[in-house]
Amino acid sequence: MINQQIQIYNTLTRTKEKFAPLNPPFVGLYVCGPTVYSDVHLGNCRTFISFDLICRYLKFIGFKVRYVRNITDAGHLEGDRDEGDDKFAKKAKLEQVEPMEIVQKYTVGFHDVMRTFNTMPPSIEPTATGHICEQIEMTKKIIANGYAYVVNGTVYFDVEKYNKEFLYGQLTNRKLEELLEGTRELDGQDEKRGRLDFALWINAKPEHIMRWPSPWGWGFPGWHIECSAMSSKYLGDAIDIHGGGMDLQATHHTNEIAQSQACNHQAPVKYWMHTNMLTVNGVRMSKSAGNGFLPDELFTGNHPLLEKGYSPMAVRFFMMQTHYRSTLDFSNAALQAAEKGFERLMAAYNTLQNLTPSAASSFDLNQLKQKCYDAMNDDFNAPILLAQLFDGVKIINSVNDGKEKISAADLDEMQKLFSGFIFDVLGLAADSNASAANDDTLSTVMSLVIDIRKDAKTKKDFSTSDKIRDDLAKAKITLKDTKDGTEWKLEK
Ligand code: AMP
Ligand code: ZN
Repeated sequence: MINQQIQIYNTLTRTKEKFAPLNPPFVGLYVCGPTVYSDVHLGNCRTFISFDLICRYLKFIGFKVRYVRNITDAGHLEGDRDEGDDKFAKKAKLEQVEPMEIVQKYTVGFHDVMRTFNTMPPSIEPTATGHICEQIEMTKKIIANGYAYVVNGTVYFDVEKYNKEFLYGQLTNRKLEELLEGTRELDGQDEKRGRLDFALWINAKPEHIMRWPSPWGWGFPGWHIECSAMSSKYLGDAIDIHGGGMDLQATHHTNEIAQSQACNHQAPVKYWMHTNMLTVNGVRMSKSAGNGFLPDELFTGNHPLLEKGYSPMAVRFFMMQTHYRSTLDFSNAALQAAEKGFERLMAAYNTLQNLTPSAASSFDLNQLKQKCYDAMNDDFNAPILLAQLFDGVKIINSVNDGKEKISAADLDEMQKLFSGFIFDVLGLAADSNASAANDDTLSTVMSLVIDIRKDAKTKKDFSTSDKIRDDLAKAKITLKDTKDGTEWKLEK
């Protein structure tokens, strides 16, 4: 049973709405996946990690989510005139390999990165090249319904005709006239009738490597049609949530809505969700801007912008500290702060496993629990959730120091609350340092040693307390006295 009410910000209505899926408890979630002609950068990862959080929370509160995230492995053209090589074919020529070797290489790399960040695999991961028939069928229907036309083997979507019945620019709240202002005039070389018309199917010259037979001759699909075709195949003609990065709103998602509406006579998506961009010094991280570091460079620190390497979980924690609809600016300082925050959280989780219960609690656990749910129910607000968990960290450390008390039942509940929100919802996992902190035997021994040292200090036996600290340091375990108690860390 789902007993939480979520509010979701819907890009389409520009308001926060109560989440009411079409067929509860089932939720259909479609996220535009990567274009696999090169490595994913950290910006791409931010979007996929944000949707991982969203999917995790929906599942956590009891929804049954079918999460579809596609792989774009065909049809991305270099220019805006629907001509030239697609990016896969171009890279394949450059590296003198078969285009599908490019696709395979970068798909495997993408999966590795997603696993490193502890994101859950989608339920279905369809590829554009595996769904050429579906894209052709959809294009045929759009032509039959009168919203597309064929010129020299290329099929164009007729935006002006569509806009007579529907609002083409509804997702970005723009009128057709405004959109037209932003486009260049057609010239003699153009085949299409309208400046905003876009290709559903593109005629391919014989030298084009990736091409398929169709009713309009040999060609390949336009980019936008793949998501319309694959989302309706796996989630139906009306789906609950469709997401992607904000940069996809104006063209890709606008065209997806038009295609699906023109084909199926219904709005394809109930809630449109868009993640904001990861930036570097205020500039969007992108392949073309050349400011995109690869996850591996981040982990090793092997990049001019990086002062050192950061663990995947410190990076995930860094992303969780900002709401998915706000921009997130990369900096070494922010990552170092995230690293510390993550360690504090994991240390407290570890302490929580070894607390001694009292007869009754001196604090209200239900209130803390409700605040954690409230944060996530408010449009998946992970930074507020973290703030609530850190209030919990203070309580854990106070109980450990004897300043607060926890009952046995509450201790059990609090352990469930922390592991549920830290691991299942935020998707954090023990990294190498944290896994040492998680090792039950080591952590039990460390609590004991810290208690003995505390006793020694209370008795003003500083030679013993210093010896404990110094000998631990030789064993690469550092102690840090904070106002909330003593924390320990195993150095790498
Ligand atoms: P692409 O492989 O370029 O099609 O992008 C895959 C996903 O990453 C899309 O949902 C994009 O919106 C998203 N994306 C691209 N750049 C960034 C960025 N700097 N920050 C966050 N998401 C991004
Ligand atoms: Zn898409």
